[in-house]
Amino acid sequence: MKKAIWLILIVFMVIVSILYIKDYNSSRSSEDSAIVTTTIYPLYFITKGIVGDKVVVKRLIKPGNEIHSFAPTPTDLIDVSHSDILITLGKKIEPWVEKMANATYVKLFALEDGLETIASSHLHHTHHHGEHRDSDKSSINPHVWLDFDNDIKMVDMISTELSRLYPKYKSIFTKNAIKLKENFGELKLAYENGLKECKKDTILVGHDAFGYQERRYHFEAESIMGIFAHSRPDAAKIAKLSDMIESRGLRYMFMDPIESSKSAMQLATDMNLTLLPLYTLGNISLQDEKSGKDMFALLKANLVNLKKGLECR
Ligand SMILES: [Zn+2]
Repeated sequence: MKKAIWLILIVFMVIVSILYIKDYNSSRSSEDSAIVTTTIYPLYFITKGIVGDKVVVKRLIKPGNEIHSFAPTPTDLIDVSHSDILITLGKKIEPWVEKMANATYVKLFALEDGLETIASSHLHHTHHHGEHRDSDKSSINPHVWLDFDNDIKMVDMISTELSRLYPKYKSIFTKNAIKLKENFGELKLAYENGLKECKKDTILVGHDAFGYQERRYHFEAESIMGIFAHSRPDAAKIAKLSDMIESRGLRYMFMDPIESSKSAMQLATDMNLTLLPLYTLGNISLQDEKSGKDMFALLKANLVNLKKGLECR
């Protein structure tokens, strides 16, 4: 099925390319339209923060969409082919970008090799059943942006690369990058201090996005869905989670408002849990973005709720 879709895409792209490249080469000068495209929201947020209004930043994954099951459409391919560069985590975490680069000749700028990653199998001892689909997708836990050191590294890598690509903005990009890194640094400190002394060491979350924070701040996020947000819990898993909720006296269920899960909502009702938002930040909802929230605001909101859930001082 997937192969068939790609074949159709490729045939489509060849036709489009022939029509388009002819036009493109004659009409485009390098100055008039500097365009950078990013994949997931954190890369968009960081890139936008670096370039300000000097370069147009587009994103492939639009607000509100699920990121782990993303597959580019023919329109996406056309859009990307207009960009100077595609900023991606890389083909290990976002395997579809490689085919996309082959189909469009867009220059890829991949970050994953410059980041500190953990294996997705770092996950949970107790409920591995039914999550096999997860493990054959990628061995790297994809949620690298939920680690502030990685965010800071991404700022550095992106600002260096874009300064090379658009040298006349180098000093602006560098200045903006410093500001972004200061903000991430402040958040890092707030998390370290805020999660230092907590009574609880476990929270219940929707999808398993918090591996990097679990490691940094020494807590466990038991998840209802898997690491890629698809796997639905079976009856056995629900039973296990119910036991865990009871034995550890958990009172909250954390869920990214962008996700929805009937079985999670049922579990919350059955176990009398209060629902609190915990943003996974692979994407942002259109509503949050329209109301002026951004990655920093949502990470701050997460800390407030994490402290509540873990009962921190
Ligand atoms: Zn995720």
